Amino acid sequence: MQQERKFDKVVSLAKTRGFVFPSSEIYGGLGSIYDYGPLGVELKNNIKKAWWDFMNARRDVVGLDSGILMHPKIWEASGHVQGFNDPLVDCKKCKSRFRADHLLENLGIKPDFRPGAKIDLADVRCPECGGELTDIRQFNLMFKTFIGPLEEEANQIYLRPETAQGIYVNFLNVKESMRLKMPFGIAQIGKAFRNEITPGNFIFRMREFEQMEMQYFVEEKEAKKVFKNWQELRREWYLSLGIDPKNLKFREHAKDELAHYAQAAIDIEYNFAFSGDDSFKELEGVHHRGTWDLSQHQKFSGQKLTVKDEENKDYLPTVIETSIGADRAFLAFLMDAYTEIDGGRSTTTESIKEKEVVLKLHPKLAPIKIAILPLSKKEPLADKAKEVYELLVKNYRIQYDETGSIGKRYRRQDEIGTPYCVTVDFDTLENNQVTVRDRDTMQQEHLDIAELKNYFQKKFDF
Ligand code: ATP
Repeated sequence: MQQERKFDKVVSLAKTRGFVFPSSEIYGGLGSIYDYGPLGVELKNNIKKAWWDFMNARRDVVGLDSGILMHPKIWEASGHVQGFNDPLVDCKKCKSRFRADHLLENLGIKPDFRPGAKIDLADVRCPECGGELTDIRQFNLMFKTFIGPLEEEANQIYLRPETAQGIYVNFLNVKESMRLKMPFGIAQIGKAFRNEITPGNFIFRMREFEQMEMQYFVEEKEAKKVFKNWQELRREWYLSLGIDPKNLKFREHAKDELAHYAQAAIDIEYNFAFSGDDSFKELEGVHHRGTWDLSQHQKFSGQKLTVKDEENKDYLPTVIETSIGADRAFLAFLMDAYTEIDGGRSTTTESIKEKEVVLKLHPKLAPIKIAILPLSKKEPLADKAKEVYELLVKNYRIQYDETGSIGKRYRRQDEIGTPYCVTVDFDTLENNQVTVRDRDTMQQEHLDIAELKNYFQKKFDF
């Protein structure tokens, strides 16, 4: 299967099967904002829950849910007011807009990311029409709004461009209220907003998105070890949820590529295959941020944010961060799960030789866990099938599907990644047995209805 087309197919499946819709579509859409449909919201919730469970499984990580709107000084302290800019250029001829650093990267030239460094575009022309480019303008990515009734500069605040700052400013609140010993981590899931200039690639780069961030506070002498350890933990998370290791790359930032706050950084890249087979792009960052964040907040707030070491001396903790976009993770899991089987694999006559799509999502992530498929819509079979539905619906997301041939119904479930289908047929009325079909092996088992709860409890025990 050609990878580029796979991306387009995943985008199309996401829309037609109720995973992701373009925002405000009946009004012509709104650039790079997307809405999650009924199956999308399940998948995204399952991804967030898998991340949250993974963080909570560690005894040294606790949770937080801080506000999207925060004191504007936070963004001065963090460097976002000053430096959260993208270098923007326009084509004078066709008016296309680009990020200057992306233009250089596409030409194989590594832009200089150091603060204050100039990006030299002297020999670069518009990739669309060959036209001349404007000078670079710095464009701040933060969305602005106003707090209170007066729309004046004194009341201007920002929609947070990352969730991390909410964690730093609550660091001591969390430590003291929970009586935590160093080192420990704080995890948070929440919306972030960036007025991206060149959004695109579906939900990969959006203007409103969701982040899952964990900040680990540690003494400097332990930081290197902790930084390594979190890289391994994050790798294990992806693999435990079935990501193909071939599609995952850990790329260390070169010194001149590091953000101003970072001492070391690893991008966890996934092969999103936007263009061709080998198109690895950032999915998550693991960052060694030193004491930069806490020292900035200490300076700007005038509040001490230090803790005591074993010798009762004050120190500012070093921060190790893991930061992943929930939407990029959503896209990665969808891409990884999408499988086409040419010629089909079903044995029902009407589906022979047709191409089949199977979404091989990890059962923990699958939006629908079980489908109940009565062979006939009519009573008494329908009644029996509803009895099975009632038995399971309290514990699992279930789809009840009674339309079309059984082969077609299996394929509809395969396409949305449902791990198990339970078929209720005429024999069920006699022997109280149903057929459970496995999405990946297509094996079928006959089980007593009375056994079903136990059976699925074992299957979904992660
Ligand atoms: P990029 O270089 O792709 O713009 P970044 O380095 O600015 O990403 P971070 O600031 O490190 O990203 O944000 C952490 C994570 O948040 C990213 O790894 C990504 O998964 C997610 N993320 C960042 N920007 C967006 C966006 N515009 N849309 C969706 N997810 C995003």
